[in-house]
Amino acid sequence: MTGQRPGMSLSSIRQFNHCGRNIYSFDKNRLQTENTGRKCPICQEQMRFSLLEAPVIVPCPFSNGHKVRCAFLIGSSLGPAFLSEWQDSELHVGVTNSQGVVYSYTSSGVQREEQGWEQCLCVPLVAPGTSRGSLAGTLWDSELEQFSRFPTWSRHRFEEEREFGSCCYGFALSFLNQLRRAEGRESVTRDDFTQQHVLPHVKTASKYITVYHEIHQHGFYVADL
Ligand SMILES: [Zn+2]
Repeated sequence: MTGQRPGMSLSSIRQFNHCGRNIYSFDKNRLQTENTGRKCPICQEQMRFSLLEAPVIVPCPFSNGHKVRCAFLIGSSLGPAFLSEWQDSELHVGVTNSQGVVYSYTSSGVQREEQGWEQCLCVPLVAPGTSRGSLAGTLWDSELEQFSRFPTWSRHRFEEEREFGSCCYGFALSFLNQLRRAEGRESVTRDDFTQQHVLPHVKTASKYITVYHEIHQHGFYVADL
């Protein structure tokens, strides 16, 4: 995905409870842990935590798409901070092969990228350990490569596809559906796939980004308990 700054990474967010509040802050200094004189940003008291209430790192919803084989990726050329519900137009989707190469349909035709998707949302398309999982690999890769060469995904047809709002999404979903049909399964509609697989990831990312921005601005974020 041209334009994304792969080096730009987000700080980790940690969550803890103190003075009856649910507090989030950046985990700037992991070595300086729980009981070494941190002050609560709200009550300014020294914080002491028992083992059970020790701060936890909030799982980051973004992962390196090049390390997730055979997956549906949702990225943004502007970086992970733009992967939220209200930034729909900035989203770009692709499919990885078993080597982490990302195939996506753009105005220049199908791109095969080995970098640029370091921070995106990943929807795995094959469960490890299933028959489909073991198929994934050379077969998946050759199917994906062949699929990418269909005239449908030419540079010239991109504008046409854009009218239907499909483009990159249409490419990824059509590939998924081709695999499903080959296995005798029904196609999945765009709406169903979005509802079941894309929106949950985007919603989680949106929440994370909101909290992230708040901490960035105010140093901490307090959520309702
Ligand atoms: Zn406190």
